[in-house]
Amino acid sequence: MSAVLRDMRDNGGRVRFDALPPLSLYVHLPWCVRKCPYCDFNSHELGRNARGALGELPEAEYVAALLRDVEGMLPQVWGRRIRSVFIGGGTPSLFGAKSVDALLAGVRSRLQVEPEAEITMEANPGTAEAGRFRGYREAGVNRLSLGVQSFDDAMLAALGRIHSAEEARRAIGLALATFGNVNIDLMYGLPGQALAMARADLEEGIRFGTPHLSAYQLTLEPNTVFHAHPPALPGEDACADMQTMAEEALGAAGFEHYETSAFARAGHRCRHNLNYWQFGDYLGIGAGAHGKLSFADRVTRHERIKQPREYLAAGGAAAPREIAPKELPFEFMLNALRLIEGFPDRLFPERTGLPALCIEVAVRDAERRGLLERGEGSLRPTALGRRFLNDLTALFLPQE
Ligand code: SF4
Repeated sequence: MSAVLRDMRDNGGRVRFDALPPLSLYVHLPWCVRKCPYCDFNSHELGRNARGALGELPEAEYVAALLRDVEGMLPQVWGRRIRSVFIGGGTPSLFGAKSVDALLAGVRSRLQVEPEAEITMEANPGTAEAGRFRGYREAGVNRLSLGVQSFDDAMLAALGRIHSAEEARRAIGLALATFGNVNIDLMYGLPGQALAMARADLEEGIRFGTPHLSAYQLTLEPNTVFHAHPPALPGEDACADMQTMAEEALGAAGFEHYETSAFARAGHRCRHNLNYWQFGDYLGIGAGAHGKLSFADRVTRHERIKQPREYLAAGGAAAPREIAPKELPFEFMLNALRLIEGFPDRLFPERTGLPALCIEVAVRDAERRGLLERGEGSLRPTALGRRFLNDLTALFLPQE
């Protein structure tokens, strides 16, 4: 019997919340111009007609379906306020400003969105236009996240991206001028990439002066073209060197490393993503979106139909699934241990509804192995724990 299970048995396995976790809203817009060969997100190629024009996007129809979806969830979130909104995809910037405005106005009229809520939208540099960005800003988007990935045209081509390095540079300039609050995503460990190339990408990214930068390692995910036909990628040690280089370069440039892949200047951590990592609640609407909601005595997950056409026809959520209390410690740790500074002791009971006692033995085991350490009233992964994060989180699995 695992440490977690033994402690759960002692607790009787009951979930009880005195106060519910903070609530965010995720909106999924599932279409892309073209599917990237490494992508395992729920994204669907728009396709082109015989004349080469992009397939038609059912913008108005989809926004109406999203708002119906929100309405269907209202009884589950009565009285709760939304502290952040994230419009992700897919390529949300395929949608025009008018649709984003209709979406956000519809969301605000149905849910209590806090006036100072962070509202992020993802955009692809291949779809960046000044007028479009201005329209998003006027609709209420106050943070833009750009999927740049690299400033090297050969790397962008290898990744199957639809944009060039020059378009990425132009998009960052436009985003900074329009939003100020901008994230750029970069990837490392790319096909044929050497350390110096990864460093050049990162240094160029830093020079733009965005307040947030995310650096992800390319991984081969199941059900992707790259998984079926793997390109030659840098080895494990080379990727570890790239990660170290990124942490050092970003640290020297004044960024705080606050999550495995996320770096921010002071005051610019992504509030929406922090809510996931701190095991907060979120409504997920749109094709294939996931959500997590807590109630006084249980925590549930809900999931949407993945295919956009079916979502448009059927809409709404499948029946929610209750997360078994014994699974909650692992689910909590899967998120919270990604945070470099870890989490305060009070967060585990606050976000799982379980007493801290439930993880005591597993925590001590992790400490003994040098994977976890105590700060003042907090727990955080050690450098070793961050390197072997899967082993660390596995200690909280409910195995017999
Ligand atoms: S643009 Fe983003 S969401 Fe779309 S296919 Fe590429 S990686 Fe996936």
